[in-house]
Amino acid sequence: MKTRIKSWRNVSSKRYQWIHQLVEQRGSELEEEMILCNKCRISLYKEKKRNKVVRNYVSSSIEPEEGFNENINRENNSIFDNRIKIEGFYGDGNDKDYCSWCLKAGTETKALSNIERMLLICDYKIYCSANARRCKNGCVDIPVDRSIEPTYLDHNQIYLLINDLICEVHRVKYMPLLVEDDGVTSEGDYVAWTGWNLSQLKDMTSLISPRMHKSKHRQPFEALCMYWIKLKTNLSFRQIGTLFKVQSKEESIRKRVEDSFHAISNYLYDAIVPSHLGINHLSRALAITHHTAYTTTFFGSSLALIWDGTYIYCNKSEDHKLQQETYSGQKSRHLVKFMSIILPDGYILDLIGPFKAKDNDAKISKV
Ligand SMILES: [Zn+2]
Ligand SMILES: [Zn+2]
Repeated sequence: MKTRIKSWRNVSSKRYQWIHQLVEQRGSELEEEMILCNKCRISLYKEKKRNKVVRNYVSSSIEPEEGFNENINRENNSIFDNRIKIEGFYGDGNDKDYCSWCLKAGTETKALSNIERMLLICDYKIYCSANARRCKNGCVDIPVDRSIEPTYLDHNQIYLLINDLICEVHRVKYMPLLVEDDGVTSEGDYVAWTGWNLSQLKDMTSLISPRMHKSKHRQPFEALCMYWIKLKTNLSFRQIGTLFKVQSKEESIRKRVEDSFHAISNYLYDAIVPSHLGINHLSRALAITHHTAYTTTFFGSSLALIWDGTYIYCNKSEDHKLQQETYSGQKSRHLVKFMSIILPDGYILDLIGPFKAKDNDAKISKV
């Protein structure tokens, strides 16, 4: 009984699409659910091979080699003998011609990333080869069920799969608190830690990454997240080092995060501030368009600037001198002063500072 079951094969899965095509060429059609004995299958396989040779001769196009070609001349069952069934997993790895999510062929596709392939294996028990693809413009969120397509892998496929899984374990083990597009971190997580959502963080990354020199220790996105986490949570640089799995000697972890922080601060300043703040970021003609009806009456087409002191509250510093300089007797709180230079309609042209809390507007203006 056992041997009989073994020599018969269900050919309804995609792996045996070629059988359906051959039989179709002969003018008959196979049932959806189809069982074929090994003898017939091998004879059809030989026919397929012959067809291909003829076709190649005619069109001189090169068909990709089939993995089990070399086994075909051996007797009976040997084609599939050296494959191992991976129980509980689906997908036959013959997956370069269709989308691994919706199983449709003929759409515009892109290669699956390693992360996507590992997601399919780990979350959906779907095996994909390194050639697997998916719809370029997205399709379904949950991969289509493949329970009719058992996974048989040869030793090379198993070797590759184990390697991929080891890489995945490694990636997860050293994964920073926040990364771009891990498919797991929620929008709320990004906002809670950095104060910004994912698309805002990506925008900022694209502003600064052309200015950053490449570093294998630091992805621009991660460095940017560390910067905002420092500002939002005031965790120590050493603590942030743990969250971002900074791989370094104990004594240099703190320094590496701190260096990143200051570098990002400079990159953000260079990328954003000069084009949005300062006397030079606006032409005189553009500045004049910021007149209001009221100021036009008074000043006509000449430039009018309004100077006013402002302040930002800050924490009491542990540094005695800084603590004294930031204390404002007038407000009974610690603060840092700035002088804003604004145009009549409220547009901020420039912000000068910081100044000591006890300096008054008149004194600051002289600087
Ligand atoms: Zn037969
Ligand atoms: Zn698709």
